[in-house]
Amino acid sequence: MLISPRERAHWQVLVFVVLALLCLGSSATAVAAPTAPAATSPAPPLNTQAAHLATLLRKNPVHVTDQLPRSVPRFTAEEFTRLARTTGVPTYVLVLPGQRDPDELLKAVHEHLRRDGVYVLVDESGVVAAKAYGVKVPAEDAATVALYDMPVDAGPVHGFARFVEVLASGEERAEEAAERTYETDPPDGMYIGPSDRDNQSFATGIALSAVAVAILFGSPYVRRWWHNRPANPRRFQRCRLFPKPLEAFAAIVVTGALAGGALLLFDEKLTSAAPNPRPADMTARLDRVTAGLKQSPVYTDPESPQVLSTEQRAQLVRHLGEFKRKHGEVYITLVPQVLEDESEGFGGTFSAALRQRLGVEKALFLVADPLTGDIGAENQGLELDLEQGDEVYGIPESLVYPADDADDRPGGDLAERLDKALTYLDDLPKSEYGDTGPYDSEASDPAEGKKLRPLFSGDFVPGLFIGAFGSAFLLGLLAAVLGVVRIRQRRSGPPRLSAGLRYFDAPRHPSAAWLRGMAEREVRLLAGMLTYRGPDFAPDLDPYPEVAPETEAETREQALRAATEAAGLHLRAALRHLGHPDTPPAHAHRLTVARTVTPSQSAAAISLARLGRAALTGVPVTDACAINPLHGPSRVRRDVRFNARTGQRRWVPVCEFCENFALAAPQLLPEQHLLLPADGGGEAVPYEEVVGPLAVVPEGGFAGPRTPSSTAHIPSVPSPDHAGVPRGDIDGDGRGTERNEWKH
Ligand SMILES: [Zn+2]
Repeated sequence: MLISPRERAHWQVLVFVVLALLCLGSSATAVAAPTAPAATSPAPPLNTQAAHLATLLRKNPVHVTDQLPRSVPRFTAEEFTRLARTTGVPTYVLVLPGQRDPDELLKAVHEHLRRDGVYVLVDESGVVAAKAYGVKVPAEDAATVALYDMPVDAGPVHGFARFVEVLASGEERAEEAAERTYETDPPDGMYIGPSDRDNQSFATGIALSAVAVAILFGSPYVRRWWHNRPANPRRFQRCRLFPKPLEAFAAIVVTGALAGGALLLFDEKLTSAAPNPRPADMTARLDRVTAGLKQSPVYTDPESPQVLSTEQRAQLVRHLGEFKRKHGEVYITLVPQVLEDESEGFGGTFSAALRQRLGVEKALFLVADPLTGDIGAENQGLELDLEQGDEVYGIPESLVYPADDADDRPGGDLAERLDKALTYLDDLPKSEYGDTGPYDSEASDPAEGKKLRPLFSGDFVPGLFIGAFGSAFLLGLLAAVLGVVRIRQRRSGPPRLSAGLRYFDAPRHPSAAWLRGMAEREVRLLAGMLTYRGPDFAPDLDPYPEVAPETEAETREQALRAATEAAGLHLRAALRHLGHPDTPPAHAHRLTVARTVTPSQSAAAISLARLGRAALTGVPVTDACAINPLHGPSRVRRDVRFNARTGQRRWVPVCEFCENFALAAPQLLPEQHLLLPADGGGEAVPYEEVVGPLAVVPEGGFAGPRTPSSTAHIPSVPSPDHAGVPRGDIDGDGRGTERNEWKH
C-alpha cells in the first residue's frame, strides 16, 4: 500500500497526539500516586464496606447493625424508620459501631447508592454525622445539635429523635440551634452510674444516723443543761440524761421522713436509656460470624472497613491451614469489639461462644478489630502454652497494637501482624494442659447490668457508722461549749455562802469599778431572791436563787418570813446608799449603779446585800465584819490588831474567816483590812477612815435592822463543828459546795 506524503503527515500528527496524550496520562498518574497505596503492599479492594452498606440501604433505608445489642438492639429499627419518615425527604440511616471517618463513609455510601436524600450515621453514642445530597435540609446543623445539645447518656434513639426535630425546624432555626451549642455547656447526664449510687447510699446513711443520734442523745443533754442553769428555781430536781418518749418518737419520725425523702430524691433505678435487647438480638452477630467461619477460617465483617486484600486473605488462609495441621482448629475474625456488643467487647467471651456454635472441642481464635486494628489471641483449649514468658496478651505486645509508624490505611499493618502472630503461636511449646481461656461463653445479662442496686445497700451501712461517729463527735464539741458557758455563768455571779462557812469571799483592795459592779449584782440578786420568796413570785427575775424553794413546816415558813422581812430592810438600806431610796425592792432586780456612787457607798451596799442574803439562808442577822465588811455577817466580837499602821487593837465584830485568821496568824490579820480607793486616785485608805456609811462599822452600828427574836427560831441543820449554823447546802442540788467553787 502506497502512502502519500500528505497521508504520512496525517499519521505523524496522529502518533504525536497519541504519544502526547499518553504522556499527560502518565504524569497525571504520577501526581495521584502519593494518595494511592504503596505498590509493594497490594491495594485493598474497592470500598466494599460502602458498597455493602449501600446494598443494605437499597433494600431498606434504615439499617441497624446487629453489633450493638446492648445499646441499640435491632428492633429499634422500627423507631428509627418511624422518625425517618417524618423528615419529609428521603432519609437513609446507618446504625454502626463508631467509625473512623463518619463523613467519608457517608460520602462513599452515597456514591454507591446514587440516590438523593439525607444520609445519617448513628453509632452507640448517638448521631455522629449527617449529609444532605440533592435535598435542601440543614443536615449538618441538626447533627451538631443532636451531638452536642443532648445529655451524653441520652442514647442513639433519643439523639436521632432530636436530629429529626431540628431538621424539621428549618434551616434558620437549625443554624441558630447549632451555634448555641458552641456557647452553652452540654446538658447533664440523664442517668447515674453505680459509683453515684454508692455516694447516694453513703450520704443517706450518714444523714439518717447523724440525725437519730443528735435527737436521741443531744436533745436530753441540752434539756438537762438548760434545766441545770443557775436561773432555774427547779434545777435541784433530777433531770435524767435519757430520751423522753417524745424525743424517741421525734427521732423515729424525723429519721423516717429523711429515709422517705432520700427514696424520693434518689429515685433512679437504671444506669442507661438503652432498651433491653431480645434474646435473638444477643445472638444475631454470633450466628452470622459462625456461618461465615464455617465457609472460611477468616471472617471479615462486611459492615466494617475491609482491611485485607485478596492476596493477604489467601495468604492467611494458607497459613491457618498449616497451623491447623500441626495444632488444631484455628480461626481469625475481623469483627469490631465494643462494650455495647453481645460479649461486652471481651474477645474471650466472643470466641468461647463461637467455639460452642462451631461445634468444635478446642480451637484458637485471633480476634482482630478492623476499627482499632487491635489483635487478641484467645485459646479455647489448644495445647499451647500461651502464658509462657511474660506476655500478658498471649502474643507479644508489638503484635497486639498497630505500630506507631503503620500507614494510615484502615487496618494499617493488621494483615502483617496477624501473619506474624500465627508464626509466633506456631512456634510455642506444647503445654500439658489445654488452656480453656479465662472467659465464659455466657455474657452478662444487659437488663441486669442496667439496674442500680437499692439505695439502702452497699455503702449505706458504712455511712450509718460514719454518721453516728460524726454526730457523737459534734455532740462532744457542743457539750464542751455548753460546759464553758455554764462555768462562765457561775463565775460571773456573786460568791455564795457554803456549807459550814458563814462569810463571803472578797478582795482586800477592790477598785471603784469592781465595787460598783459587784454592788449592782449583789443588790439585783437579793432583790430577785426576795421577789422569788414573795407573793408575786417571778422565777425569771432571779438569776441566782440560793434558797431551796421547798418548805417543810409551818414554823420554818414563819422563820423564813421573818428573815425575808429583815432581808427586805437590808435591801432598802442598800438602795438608799446607792442613791435609789424610792425604788421599790420588787423593781431592784433591774437596778443600775450610777458612776457617781462612791466606793464607800458601793461597799456599804455590797455588805448590806450580803447580810440580807445571809439572813435569807438562816444566818442570824448581826453586824458586818469589821476587818472587811464585804465578808458579810460577823460571828463574834474580838479584841484584835485592827489597824496595821497604828498597831491599834480594838474590840470589833469579826466574821468566821477573820476569827480563824486572828487565832492562826494575828500579826497578819491587819493585812486583811479592807482598803478603799481614795478619791482622785491616791493611795488606798482603810475603809473606816473614808467619810461615808462604812465609817460606823467598827463600832457595830452599821447593820441597822435586826430581828434577833425571829432569827432565833430559824431551823438549822445541826453541824458537829458549828451547832446552830444554818443549813449550808443552799445550792439545793444536794451535793454541798466546796468553798473553792465560789471563790473569785
Ligand atoms: Zn471578816
